[in-house]
Amino acid sequence: MEISVAEAVFEIRDLTKVYRTGDVEVKALRGVDAELFHGELTVMLGPSGSGKSTFLNILGGLDVASSGAVRYRDQDLTNAGDRQLTRFRRNHVGFVFQFYNLIPSLTARENVALVTEIAPNAMKPDEALEMVGLKERISHFPAQLSGGEQQRVAIARAVAKKPEVMLCDEPTGALDSKTGILVLEALTATNQELGTTTAIITHNVTIGSIADRVFHFSDGAINAVIENERRLKPSDVDW
Ligand code: ADP
Repeated sequence: MEISVAEAVFEIRDLTKVYRTGDVEVKALRGVDAELFHGELTVMLGPSGSGKSTFLNILGGLDVASSGAVRYRDQDLTNAGDRQLTRFRRNHVGFVFQFYNLIPSLTARENVALVTEIAPNAMKPDEALEMVGLKERISHFPAQLSGGEQQRVAIARAVAKKPEVMLCDEPTGALDSKTGILVLEALTATNQELGTTTAIITHNVTIGSIADRVFHFSDGAINAVIENERRLKPSDVDW
């Protein structure tokens, strides 16, 4: 029998991050080892301040570690300069944050087109919006959309350039459960249809059941990694 082993696209070794503000030092990460696997969906859980965002930002090249190693495929991100990190983010990573950061004077289609016009091999804006279930809202402005719909425009904008990696920091943090489910469905659809390696930070422990793998953060470390035998659909999650 052939056993398929997913490839580790991110390899993280003994990662630390210390923030210094004046005389105050905060150890945000205290020696994290982890792997993220090709095409998998990883959910990152843990209390506020446990280091999840710091970790995600370092994976995405938005921040740099204090020590340790981060490798994305054949790229060493630890020793990368600003230009290499910018190229890495631009070519490989889509970000989704808690707040949608859409441009109010542009329609959904135009918000997505801002990215697709400059990215090589991008999807058409309409295709990306259809993938997140917003076919009927393409010509709407952000103010005419609900919070969940705005977040799905932000997801369409992030996936339209067909990134290999999607990093999502509390994408449902500002949403009620019903709209949160639609947002998670948009993320699982892009994960499955495009094979995008996806990581989602959330406070909501039950969301862990939609993942292939769950990282439990505590006090700057990952103290447990749980592999789910099967993934639940977001609509089957008990919020
Ligand atoms: P989480 O995402 O789990 O809430 P964070 O990664 O945001 O945790 O934060 C981890 C720790 O690092 C916290 O104590 C936080 O206050 C601190 N921290 C995060 N970003 C900064 C920063 N830019 N400057 C100083 N301290 C920071």
